[in-house]
Amino acid sequence: VKITEEQIRPNELFNRYLALAADDAHWISTTSNFETVKCWACDETLNFSFEKCGFKFGECPSCRSIINDPRPLAKDISRFYSEGKSPRFWASDFYRTTAESRRELLWRTKAKRVAQIINSQPVRPDWICDIGAGFGIFAEELRREIPEIQIIAVEPTPSLADELRAKGITTIPKFLGDVRKTDLPHGVGFLTSFELLEHLHNPLEFLKDVSTLTSTGSAFLATTLSSWGLDIQLLGKESKAIFPPHHLQIISPKAIRGLCSKAGFTKVEISTPGKLDLDIAKKSVHLVQDRFWHLFLSEGTDSSIERMQEVIAETGFSSHMWCLFQK
Ligand SMILES: [Zn+2]
Repeated sequence: VKITEEQIRPNELFNRYLALAADDAHWISTTSNFETVKCWACDETLNFSFEKCGFKFGECPSCRSIINDPRPLAKDISRFYSEGKSPRFWASDFYRTTAESRRELLWRTKAKRVAQIINSQPVRPDWICDIGAGFGIFAEELRREIPEIQIIAVEPTPSLADELRAKGITTIPKFLGDVRKTDLPHGVGFLTSFELLEHLHNPLEFLKDVSTLTSTGSAFLATTLSSWGLDIQLLGKESKAIFPPHHLQIISPKAIRGLCSKAGFTKVEISTPGKLDLDIAKKSVHLVQDRFWHLFLSEGTDSSIERMQEVIAETGFSSHMWCLFQK
């Protein structure tokens, strides 16, 4: 299926959301206490790169992850998600308006791909656990793909947990750090989290928590943004992926490998099946400084752009990254 950014992030609605997020960034950056962080994968001090909406971002000199440093304390990030204007707008307006096109264009494709991955596991899990299940669209789509698998959701937001239960999805209404192995049914052999790592106050702690809940022989699939992705590198600070206080880090594939062993997983397979890098960069071509890419995006035909996108995805340099951790 050919998808464009407009179908999943209608420009007008998305720009209103971005404007509210900029207000939230100002509010959080002026009312929080900040702490310094290092790259969790490499333990390197970050080199300052730029400031956006009152948040400073640095790059890890070893793995080239893009990381907010210093960052608000964990309690300030929680305050943002419970009281901010943009998280509320996302749930009430943005997500509801785009839910059905996102279901068809994003979640259905994702669920098919996840079903393939699950079916290729050495042991078929009885249960899968989706962390940060949100509105449950992935769970519904996966249920269509593999009806015999049971799905349990972890979702701390009370209104979303209610919505998941109303859809008949077993739900643990907790933050992942508060979930114990005994909360999960026996036979959870596969865990997922979609577009969550970039939001977390401490991604290493999160991965350790997931690892603790994961039995030997099980797998955890996480999707996130990659800092090595073409559109993010071309647009830099101007990339909409650099999006505080929502996105606090854009982790690189190299960092994912480091985090894998630190968190207690045995190996990780990384792929970048992104479709949108060039579509995103082309829409902001006036901001692209690199002479070749400016030329390519301005003069390249649709078919050359499509072929180039495939090459970027296959070589691991799309900004949409899938990480399959094994234990
Ligand atoms: Zn690093």
